[in-house]
Amino acid sequence: MAIRKILNERTDNTTLRRKCRVVEQVDDRILMLLDDMLETMVDANGVGLAAPQVGVLRRLAVVDVEDGTGPYFLINPEIIEREGEQVGPEGCLSVSRLNGTVTRPMKIKVKALDREGKERIYEAEGYLARAMCHEIDHLDGILFIDVAADLYDPDDKEREKKPLKVRARRK
Ligand SMILES: [Zn+2]
Repeated sequence: MAIRKILNERTDNTTLRRKCRVVEQVDDRILMLLDDMLETMVDANGVGLAAPQVGVLRRLAVVDVEDGTGPYFLINPEIIEREGEQVGPEGCLSVSRLNGTVTRPMKIKVKALDREGKERIYEAEGYLARAMCHEIDHLDGILFIDVAADLYDPDDKEREKKPLKVRARRK
């Protein structure tokens, strides 16, 4: 396993904005990449990482929100059901020093291939659902800053006193 370099939106925006290709075959190269992605995510204290964030334009993501159910290795993931709504803060390992308020479904069903290449349906709720939605967006070149209602510096202690009026940056 190896830690890979995580691309940043400021310097690698072109790569991060591309639509990723479907994985045709779950082979050793894909499994090694997934292992590297997990190691890279853990090293960066993240709860999810998508392949384009390490410069690979394939439909792959790893998610582990430390709720005891992960890590999830998602190959060609697709959200097949959405239910409810949650509004909450999000950040991204590819976007430095910005958080945003993002509305996501409260519950989702995700269809994906597992490490054996077998089709699985995962049900996710709350924070796990949020993390999966965020990572799956990456596979279509969508960053949370595109869908956030506001953007703010998470270290800004004065933030609570300011009106929320930073507009989201659109693609
Ligand atoms: Zn992200």
